[in-house]
Amino acid sequence: MPADYHMHTPLCRHATGEPIEYAKHAVAIGLDEIGFSDHSPMRQDNFDNWRMNLDQLGEYVEKVRKAQKDFPGLTIRLALEVDYLPGREDWIRELATRHPWDYFIGSVHYVSDHWDIDNPAKLSEWKNRDAFEVWTAYFERLTMAAESKLFEIIGHADLPKKFGHRPTRDCTPLYEKFLAAAKKSGCAIELNTAGLRKDCREIYPNRQILELAFQNGVPVTFGSDAHAPAEVGMNFAEAIQLARDVGYRECCQFAKRKCRFIKL
Ligand SMILES: [Zn+2]
Ligand SMILES: [Zn+2]
Repeated sequence: MPADYHMHTPLCRHATGEPIEYAKHAVAIGLDEIGFSDHSPMRQDNFDNWRMNLDQLGEYVEKVRKAQKDFPGLTIRLALEVDYLPGREDWIRELATRHPWDYFIGSVHYVSDHWDIDNPAKLSEWKNRDAFEVWTAYFERLTMAAESKLFEIIGHADLPKKFGHRPTRDCTPLYEKFLAAAKKSGCAIELNTAGLRKDCREIYPNRQILELAFQNGVPVTFGSDAHAPAEVGMNFAEAIQLARDVGYRECCQFAKRKCRFIKL
């Protein structure tokens, strides 16, 4: 089975279970590699309420190190899921120097400075928005994230569908532009199974995006986006099947921000 590269810790304030419990579940289901990628801190702790504070970054690394020590037979990578916001690239570069990270997942949750589209507390905001406009804003930022070369992996590449909203207009040009940027920068996209647990009931990204990614030569990783130990590796069989159906025969794994390909 490929590595599960997307999992969280209670430091982000909306996940449960310690890294050692995630690791224990990973071993129980037969994974040999996982990676913690909790929501990165911002320079200002009051940015929002769903991430660790900056002074907790050391504690996060210690929790992951403890899991590494307790589960020597399991490869455990140290990573972050980093929010991409245009104009804040310097902060991401600074974060990158703080610890010997294995990879950064670059994610777009904010389509403007004030709207995190996947936040259930802001679900009503969707009533004021046209889905295609949200998709356009989202993919513009996702393309910038891919172009920035700050990330090894782009997270949940069609997150706006989370609550079941979908544009009626054809989004192919948005997808193509993003994937061309990902290919050019050499970043991977993840098959994120959390979508199956949300209203959209579908892996992120959808099959069309994945087919275009394969055609464009964009590599893939896998992630459960676990916010609880029992979610580790969840629906991986389905994700692997989808990747293989689309044509993928290998996926990426990362150590110290360097990619190696493994057979799928
Ligand atoms: Zn989260
Ligand atoms: Zn995310």
